[in-house]
Amino acid sequence: MPAPIDTLILGAGSAGCILANRLSRDPAHRVTLVEAGGFPTDPDVFAPAMWPLIQGRSYDWDYETVPQPGTAGRVHRWARGRMIGGSSGLHAMFHLRGHPADFDAWVAATGDAGWSYEALLPHFRATESYAEETALHGTGGEMPVMIPEAETHPAVRSFIRGWQELGLPRLPDHNGREVIGTAPNSLTIRDGRRVTTGTAFLAPVLGRPNLRVITGAEVHRLRFAGRRVRGVEIRTTAGDSVLEAGEVILALGAIADPLLLMRSGVGDPAVLAAAGVPCRVARPELGQNLHDHMLAAGVVYRARQNIAPSRLQHSESLAYQSARGLDVHTGAPDLVVGCVVAPSVSEAFAMPAPGETYTLLFGVTHPTSRGALAITGPELRDAPRIDPRYLHTEHDRRMFRLALERARAVGESAAMRAWNGGELLPGADVSSPAALDAFIARAAITHHHPVATCAMGAADTSVVAPDLRARDFDNLAIVDASVIPAIPCGPIHAAVMAIAEKYAAQL
Ligand code: FAD
Repeated sequence: MPAPIDTLILGAGSAGCILANRLSRDPAHRVTLVEAGGFPTDPDVFAPAMWPLIQGRSYDWDYETVPQPGTAGRVHRWARGRMIGGSSGLHAMFHLRGHPADFDAWVAATGDAGWSYEALLPHFRATESYAEETALHGTGGEMPVMIPEAETHPAVRSFIRGWQELGLPRLPDHNGREVIGTAPNSLTIRDGRRVTTGTAFLAPVLGRPNLRVITGAEVHRLRFAGRRVRGVEIRTTAGDSVLEAGEVILALGAIADPLLLMRSGVGDPAVLAAAGVPCRVARPELGQNLHDHMLAAGVVYRARQNIAPSRLQHSESLAYQSARGLDVHTGAPDLVVGCVVAPSVSEAFAMPAPGETYTLLFGVTHPTSRGALAITGPELRDAPRIDPRYLHTEHDRRMFRLALERARAVGESAAMRAWNGGELLPGADVSSPAALDAFIARAAITHHHPVATCAMGAADTSVVAPDLRARDFDNLAIVDASVIPAIPCGPIHAAVMAIAEKYAAQL
């Protein structure tokens, strides 16, 4: 009889819960899933409309960036789920795979056609369950994806008609082969409740005898013996202990994976020395290449009529578009404008009155600004230095100005006339490039999609190889948002799920 395989999966987030499900399907595979948080008990986690309000609670890691010169010196709070389900317990539930061309960048980075959209399609389908089976939509996966129509807010329906008036196509949803167009957001909601990867993938298999889940366990450090991870240091309320490792998969997410490796002595020798950590393996690329989507919040309008609260998750429709014009309907989008049926502003502005205002968020789908993150000390509690270098490039600033122009165009469309009681922010006097830049710098907020800190690649300098195995160790893989080499056009959760599904399928 073959020896059982023992795998430690570190992090029960979006990727970790899928990995635990898929790997433990084989009874000969003994799987241990380790998570700092617990099973979510706060009912607000499952109430879709509560999502913007649950950040900063005990189940959020609540990181902070360093002050950002590109955003008027502001510090940005970065929510990350600390619970079974990870950030799928905090996120805004919009499900968008990305445009096929987004994955061409992954193929270019890895030299591996297995990361193309066509090759990933079976993995997207394997995780998803739509109401209807089509050539592109699966019904066999665990994660429900609803395409709302009747539930959509009347102001959002006007927003969608406004885009059609301006020439954008009305799509059935955003998960076809083209993304440029307007549609209500596809949502990972079932029966009015958020579905996390914990609910969808882990809860149904908790009874498997070969699956052990350890909650309330913080991973502090990896111990190495040569090219092998030999143990994982964890801390629970019962004290410190070391888990023995067979295979190890890091699924702590794009922030915590590189931090754990750095605390364990892997990374840029200068960063490690400054943090007081002896360097075991020099890997300067670790924590580099950090990038994220931002949205500017936003063009805020006074409403001519009362804005009823959203029955979904507030930002009910994002319209993707080309910078080359609203008549360009194919290829990857460059810009996005969303309609939030509530006031939405950054902390730099006073919050306008709910019920009387609505917001057009706008942003850039493929930012070129790149930053880095690093440890500042040897312990988990030492706050990391997170520097995404937001709005560092002229490309990003120019695209943001254009996105603002597009938001104003739809805001002034005939379809929006019934709602438009005048622009409150930024205000008609804000129109020169310098004034627009200054407003955007104060208004931009994270769209919550940090990636690429352990990017996969063909080059020896990449942290993981195209098969997601860490280059420096024989029994370590990294499988989550950190391996994404270039951000897709939209929210990344669907892509993270497909990465986990693909990794499990290749074993
Ligand atoms: P995570 O899901 O964050 O999982 C990491 C897990 O590791 C967590 O459970 C964490 O507690 C655990 N962990 C971390 N460090 C340790 C440690 N030291 N010890 C033990 N455990 C640890 N994407 C979309 O597609 N659509 C959206 O609408 C959307 N909105 C978002 C809104 C918000 C507020 C946020 C935060 C994210 C949003 N995202 C959205 C992004 C998406 O949710 C994430 O990209 C995705 O969940 C990341 O998955 P992951 O597996 O890489 O990491």
